[in-house]
Amino acid sequence: MDLFEYQARDIFEKHGVPVLGGVVATTPEEARAGAEQLLGGQPGVVVVKAQVKVGGRGKAGGVKLARSADDAAEKAAEILGMDIKGHTVHRVMIAAGAKIATEFYFSLLLDRAERRYLAMCSVEGGMDIEQLAVERPDALAKVAVDPRTGIDQAKADEIVRAAGFDADIAPKVAAVLQTLWTVYRSEDATLVEVNPLVLTEDGEIVALDGKVTLDENASFRHPEHADLEDAAAADPLEARAKEKDLNYVKLDGEVGIIGNGAGLVMSTLDVVAYAGEAHGGVKPANFLDIGGGASAEVMAAGLDIILTDPQVKAVFVNVFGGITACDAVANGIVAALEILGDEASKPLVVRLDGNNVLEGRRILAEAGHPLVTIADTMDGGADKAAELAHAAA
Ligand code: GDP
Ligand code: MN
Repeated sequence: MDLFEYQARDIFEKHGVPVLGGVVATTPEEARAGAEQLLGGQPGVVVVKAQVKVGGRGKAGGVKLARSADDAAEKAAEILGMDIKGHTVHRVMIAAGAKIATEFYFSLLLDRAERRYLAMCSVEGGMDIEQLAVERPDALAKVAVDPRTGIDQAKADEIVRAAGFDADIAPKVAAVLQTLWTVYRSEDATLVEVNPLVLTEDGEIVALDGKVTLDENASFRHPEHADLEDAAAADPLEARAKEKDLNYVKLDGEVGIIGNGAGLVMSTLDVVAYAGEAHGGVKPANFLDIGGGASAEVMAAGLDIILTDPQVKAVFVNVFGGITACDAVANGIVAALEILGDEASKPLVVRLDGNNVLEGRRILAEAGHPLVTIADTMDGGADKAAELAHAAA
């Protein structure tokens, strides 16, 4: 789960990472109040920052300086509603202004291939770090971090040395890196990135931006992380699927997919994408794994989610009968179509194979639902579904 910058800021603060004051606002009026609170009646600068889960907000015009509370309200009015790389800005953070002397870069991430963590650090921060990594890889220090020891004093010193910090600020930076390690470990993060980490004109090291990804596999250790989930910003179909405990991911195409077992669904996506090339380039509309027990209720819930996606023009149900045999799945599909009634208004291609396949096909054929086409093979079913989706598009 990726966090918004303001959420990362709060978590940083909780673990003693130096950050500046920040207040979230969803309207210009709230932005004005937030700026007044931060400025405390004194003249000064605040920064109005778009809260979207995508990098490069600064370059896109989503980070603006404001010189008064009224100015903050104006800048917030400009930024709220803005589209940044496909993300609509619903919130801004009003942050206390920093007098930046130098911008640095730091990140700590999971290095799966090496089964450890990787710290990356540069005295040239702020800019596109991807560009720096490509153009001048020597300017980006990469230091392996053993998960058992993390970033202790020695490791922090090693990172700071490798990045080439000046001796006068090196100890301060090393101390901040250790607090960032505390964030990483105690929150079960898979990424903590600070760009820029800055040296202020007063000689302080401050995390001015924060990107944190939490490991959802560890959520059982962190009931408090549930509050961070952004149901509002998530795809509404994904939110509904989650409520029903369905393993659903919305994609961009026109062919709705239902299968049982993640591996089968993944290969169904591939086969449909391939078949779509011959039918106007239609693509899979989603990933949906209904799991082992494909009961009528689960099938109905899955079909319901998929059929309410306006982009979906046809659905491919690809089920391999195992413990739940094909006849039970077929009964599930028939019952689901009854439950949905008129809501089921798009063609459905069903391919059943495995345990009790003949009985399953017989049940579907007997029901004779006008929208259902029975396919014998996975390739044939994918082709038929792509053809129907293209014809309806
Ligand atoms: P990003 O572009 O999405 O990574 O957003 P950042 O939070 O990193 O902000 C982009 C840039 O805005 C930073 O690299 C800084 O140069 C600048 N910036 C952010 N906060 C402040 C601030 O408090 N004061 C000043 N002067 N500049 C800031
Ligand atoms: Mn940044």
